[in-house]
Amino acid sequence: TDSGLPRYAANLNSPQQEAVLTTEGPVLMLAGAGTGKTAALTARLAHLVAMRKAWPSEILCVTFTNKAAREMRERVGRHIGDAVEGMPWLGTFHSIGAKMLRRHAELVGLQSNYTIIDTDDQLRLLKQLIRDQDLDEKRWPPRQLAGLIDRWKNRGLNPADLDAAENEAFANGRGQEFYTLYQERLKALNACDFGDLLLHMLNILRREPEVLKMYQQRFKYILVDEYQDTNQVQYLWLRLLAQERKNICVVGDDDQSIYSWRGAEVANILRFEKDFPGAKVVKLEQNYRSTPHILAAASGLIDANSQRIGKTLWTQFEGGDQVRVIGVWDAPEEARRVGEEAERLEREGASLDQVALLVRAQYQTREFEDRFIQIGLNYRIIGGFRFYERSEIRDALAYLRVIAQPRDDLAFERIYNQPKRGLGAKTLEKMFQHARATDMPLAAASLQLADSDELPKRAAGTIAALMRDFLRWKELAEQTTPAELLRTVMDECGYTAMLQAEKSAESAGRLENLSELARAMEEYETLGDFLEHVSLVMDNERAGDGEKLTIMTMHAAKGLEFDNVFLPGWEEGVFPSQRSLDEGGLASLEEERRLAYVAITRARKRCTILYAANRRIYGQWTSSIPSRFVAELPDDHVTRETTMTGGASLWQANWSESEDPFAHVSTSRPERSSQRGPGWQRALTSGYDTKQLRLKESTRSAASFAAQPRSDIAVG
Ligand code: ATP
Ligand code: MG
Repeated sequence: TDSGLPRYAANLNSPQQEAVLTTEGPVLMLAGAGTGKTAALTARLAHLVAMRKAWPSEILCVTFTNKAAREMRERVGRHIGDAVEGMPWLGTFHSIGAKMLRRHAELVGLQSNYTIIDTDDQLRLLKQLIRDQDLDEKRWPPRQLAGLIDRWKNRGLNPADLDAAENEAFANGRGQEFYTLYQERLKALNACDFGDLLLHMLNILRREPEVLKMYQQRFKYILVDEYQDTNQVQYLWLRLLAQERKNICVVGDDDQSIYSWRGAEVANILRFEKDFPGAKVVKLEQNYRSTPHILAAASGLIDANSQRIGKTLWTQFEGGDQVRVIGVWDAPEEARRVGEEAERLEREGASLDQVALLVRAQYQTREFEDRFIQIGLNYRIIGGFRFYERSEIRDALAYLRVIAQPRDDLAFERIYNQPKRGLGAKTLEKMFQHARATDMPLAAASLQLADSDELPKRAAGTIAALMRDFLRWKELAEQTTPAELLRTVMDECGYTAMLQAEKSAESAGRLENLSELARAMEEYETLGDFLEHVSLVMDNERAGDGEKLTIMTMHAAKGLEFDNVFLPGWEEGVFPSQRSLDEGGLASLEEERRLAYVAITRARKRCTILYAANRRIYGQWTSSIPSRFVAELPDDHVTRETTMTGGASLWQANWSESEDPFAHVSTSRPERSSQRGPGWQRALTSGYDTKQLRLKESTRSAASFAAQPRSDIAVG
């Protein structure tokens, strides 16, 4: 369009332009994925500055991630040049909150040089408090309290605001007391946590009329991306700040609300017109990102959700591939397949930077990382660590290294007090001294030291017990498989119990990672073989610059786009996640479906979905059921293939027609492994029983999906 419009708006379609040019009054852009919401918001920002509607410092612009803020800054910079340097209020809620709070810290009893503590510090603090109050921290884990406090802060609740039910949620009615103690402790340390960055500022805006007025006048314009994922405290903030001028423009998509587990409330976007009467509502329906098949597949899927507004999406693009759904035999084949496809794309001229692998849970990355390293395919992990660098994996490996090689001082040092056994730095120092003096490895020296009276009795006893454990594990290593050894060690050393006690989503993820580590070990005969594999993999991790395939969670991929997207693990219990199935509610399932919608709509040109027929869970082959989302994809836009001959019809069976495609073969349902395994096995397997059928290796072919394993991947 050569409309004489400024450059930043010239290429936009007319509803987008409307959203850009309607500078005054509330504007709501509620539209589907890839329709150019972020693009329009960015143009609006450029427009406000270019038209001198406001100085850059008078615009509040909120993005969901720091990366998104950087990108927006860069794009706006292209249009308005240096002025973008002076945009102090472009960022995430947290970064903006931190900046504001620096200026008003004294109003909440802090100094402006306050520190922002991280999760570790927070947990340590809470632990102290719990101990000080003589509470059993096993019964009332710090992490649980941290989760509660976080939830309260997300909802804008101060200690005094808690109702009876919330108060009851910790230590039999002591929630409020602990929340209060924690806030006092933070104040004494001149510190605050992430939640405080928003809550303190909300308190200030509510209690200090002059401050509120100042910001209401300063922010001539407010812009918010991904509004569907704002939580209560963020919502209250915006409502206060926008109340005076009402020049607030929010954009979002109710179908992409995927953070309710972090307190986000999709209701915020749905009631925008009530909060700001007379709001201009802009609908965008043209998608500029994806091919028609990808778009139709995603739209068809999200149609199954009952709780949605419903939107039309169309595209001018023509042609393009259908979404591919590939059923494979097992996880290694799935990883092999993605590796092959990525290499093929590369050969065809695609850049690896335009290839993404989006997983539901962190533990899923392991199989792919192993494979990519093996074939020399460069990858990066966004928003997390590479599998073997995660702390729980390093801890587990350290135990195994000490067992395999008692002279491994570094490994021993890592875990001598992990999980916590009450051995401090002093003890470690003594152990080191003794090791040096006697020229013995640390572990052996420690054992000898425990026998002397150099150490306090308690420490000596603890070390002796630990060394006895190691001796037993070393014997066990001769008799059992590496994977079995790992499970035993993690249970017996208390690591499993430690994670279970934490009762948080994060610790659940760490348990999943450990379980995945055991799965990786199933393929190795001896502990030595496996450890060698790991050191080779770790050594390989120094992949240089150049193009890289991106691995990340679906959650982290929100707002991004890639030419080629791979989506593995579409099986019941993986995606939708077991947790969402266990919770059982429609709401959690619909949130999983929205996540699937987000995932598919990241793809520009090609989208490949995979599921495996078998997963190894605790050394036991388990047949998995393809995700219900696979069946919900509209047939006209999807090609379905399976690498298993003869099984195709069953794999294509419509999930919704028969709740359990294996119902007819359930005669040989073996005992649940949750009744066998101890500790962490039980904790993890218990979740898998709802929908999954466990088939023993021997019964697998009989129970058959009419498919024979391909000989090259036949399982031994
Ligand atoms: P999501 O819901 O995933 O966040 P979105 O609605 O924010 O998506 P954008 O990321 O802004 O969509 O845009 C998607 C793609 O379409 C981008 O590559 C963008 O450059 C392009 N695009 C946006 N508007 C137009 C337009 N009017 N003409 C051509 N391309 C456009
Ligand atoms: Mg966007």
